[in-house]
Amino acid sequence: MSLIVQKYGGSSVGTPDRILNVARRILQAQRTGNQVVAVVSAMSGVTDNLIKLAGQVAPQPTEREMDVLLATGEQTTIALTAMAINGLGGRAVSLTGAQAGIVTDGVHTKAKIANITPRRIHTFLDARSIVIVAGFQGESLEGQITTLGRGGSDLTAIALAAAIKADLCQIFTDVDGVYTCDPRIVRNARKIPEISYDEMLEMASLGSKVMQARSVEFAKKFRVIFEVRSSFNDQPGTLVKEETAGMEKVVIRGVSVDRKQAKVTISHVPDKPGIASRIFSEIAAINVNVDMIVQNVSASGTTDISFTTLADELPKIEKHLGPIVEEIGAKGFSAQGGIAKLSVVGIGMRSHSGVAAKMFELLGKADINIQMISTSEIKISVIVDEARVDEGANIVHAGFGLNV
Ligand code: ASP
Ligand code: MG
Repeated sequence: MSLIVQKYGGSSVGTPDRILNVARRILQAQRTGNQVVAVVSAMSGVTDNLIKLAGQVAPQPTEREMDVLLATGEQTTIALTAMAINGLGGRAVSLTGAQAGIVTDGVHTKAKIANITPRRIHTFLDARSIVIVAGFQGESLEGQITTLGRGGSDLTAIALAAAIKADLCQIFTDVDGVYTCDPRIVRNARKIPEISYDEMLEMASLGSKVMQARSVEFAKKFRVIFEVRSSFNDQPGTLVKEETAGMEKVVIRGVSVDRKQAKVTISHVPDKPGIASRIFSEIAAINVNVDMIVQNVSASGTTDISFTTLADELPKIEKHLGPIVEEIGAKGFSAQGGIAKLSVVGIGMRSHSGVAAKMFELLGKADINIQMISTSEIKISVIVDEARVDEGANIVHAGFGLNV
């Protein structure tokens, strides 16, 4: 008999019919001879609506009450799911995060899991019950209700799988798995059978739509192997795990596209120690998240510094960067949207050379201009015009042999 943790996201439990579908799947998993713990999210849209409601009664809702409010979303789903299973003739019991023994720190709305004491879960499993656990929530040592940050049900599932030493952790969602590229961009994209934790984390635009990054990091740390698959069909999904030797044979695992980026260049920055630190601490102080940073080689005592950020941040940049630029004695700045980031990701890059050269050649031949480049051990990213990024993704995807 295996012990399985399943997680069903908001869209998988978005309607009564869908909850019944999930109930049948859970029962099926139990009937094939397993003990099943299912973690569920709030029904789709519910968390967003609760946040909206809070905003209608207070300009800045207190965070403690925010958690009390948001936790009701998942509490609704656990009760309905357990009822559905019981109504189908099975035996299920629902547990809130606190009842399931999930203890967190006291940081409301973005709490971290401190430890899990799954005693109650085991008691119910031993009594042949299915256990339905509310995702996204826990209880602080002081007995307060806490939540784990948006998308936190993934974390609940991974952490529970680690705590109860589950044999299998399945993340059910509304996509079939992780693809080599967004199939809406590249029609020839394929489902990836196996991917390493690091690749999953680097494929931001692919991975993060599927799963919360923090839970992938947690899975990596505690070596929880999990499968991402669809709750609407029976196809195998994508297995996310520690890298294996065989995985390195594939040079590029996937191509990732991040749209709506912006590029900011500060020109003639004095080339002195401490200047970069001042620029970026000021930028952090206005809460702008910076992605790539490029500094030119200095000529005649000054240099240009460029960085990318989300296009949404442009108004803030335009409003606040002027005084910062003046203060550090730079000449001026320019900020521009309409660009996108195109990345290739793969742990195979570590042992294969020429990946960057090949990517640049593919784009060059298509006459797509590269505006910025950044690399890590397993990822190469370039900034191109947003209008050309889909074409670039298709070319690179085909060029690295990823097409079906
Ligand atoms: N209901 C929470 C959210 O919408 C948690 C989750 O769905 O994972 O962020
Ligand atoms: Mg979710």
